[in-house]
Amino acid sequence: MKGFTSRWAARMLAALVLFAVCAPGQCAEGAKKKILYFTKSQGFQHSAVARKDGQPAYSEKVLAELGKKHGYEIVCSKDGSLLNPDKIGQWDAFIFYATGDLTKPAPEKYGDKEPPMTPEGKQALLDAIKNGKGFMGVHAGNDAFREGYDPFIQMLGGEFHSHGAQQKSWSRIVDKKFPGLEGLEDFEMMEEWYAPTDINPDIHVIILQDTKGMTGKQYERPPYPATWARMHGKGRVFYTSLGHREDVWDNPITHQVILAGLKWILGETQADVSPNLQQVAPQPEQFMAAVGGAAPAAKEPAATPAKDEAKKTGAKKTVRKKTEAKK
Ligand SMILES: [Zn+2]
Repeated sequence: MKGFTSRWAARMLAALVLFAVCAPGQCAEGAKKKILYFTKSQGFQHSAVARKDGQPAYSEKVLAELGKKHGYEIVCSKDGSLLNPDKIGQWDAFIFYATGDLTKPAPEKYGDKEPPMTPEGKQALLDAIKNGKGFMGVHAGNDAFREGYDPFIQMLGGEFHSHGAQQKSWSRIVDKKFPGLEGLEDFEMMEEWYAPTDINPDIHVIILQDTKGMTGKQYERPPYPATWARMHGKGRVFYTSLGHREDVWDNPITHQVILAGLKWILGETQADVSPNLQQVAPQPEQFMAAVGGAAPAAKEPAATPAKDEAKKTGAKKTVRKKTEAKK
């Protein structure tokens, strides 16, 4: 009985302390939500995530600052072991600007000596999201695990296909009610615009890429999803294609989009993320016609015979090689 009483007292004390340091809207230091910004590049490394002379990369500095301003602890790392089953529990959410097969080491030329993710770590990440942790992909975040229709890509809701030359293009806000984006008007920006494939039919599109006037084979398609949200089990997933150029990272619109996504994946805001692909981009069969890729599957994303066909013909890889040569 004595043991029970002291345990009960200890729990009450812990609850009181928690309440004291984390009254609503006034979370103290130490109670900050902890987010992993993962920037390992096993595939192409963007300058926005490249570290020089041991200094944080451009996007790392911007995100860390944004986190500081809004009361989040954002840990920037290329250390794949931070996702291992014994370490995954420390994170409230994950932001990925990472490329390639992240279970393999990064090329030596990038100077990243940190360990890759382990297969167990990858599974732990997917399980953590399914069980309620938040996930955000930024720009090249959908250029990871692209062999086959990987569970990572299924979770994210779409996969990088290719991009054309950097150019000015319009982004159309199709969900003006998404929390944090109220008041954001359609915007024109100079950027390297990602063209996605393997779009999961269950995504909720927030911003559409307006392809009108764009130059490049991959843009010869109807407007397509560029920023979206979806549920993955109990987890909230958000993706935005913004983030190639350093000046895009300085743009208040980028900050607004990332912050809106972050607050939502952390469960701090509530949004209606019902699938709307068919309403806002109702020509799925034309999505990839221009580049020989797959249209989104009608129901079950795992069954995409059109994609297998594209793979047999090597259409996807051909385009990819061309675009990589441009980088
Ligand atoms: Zn890029």
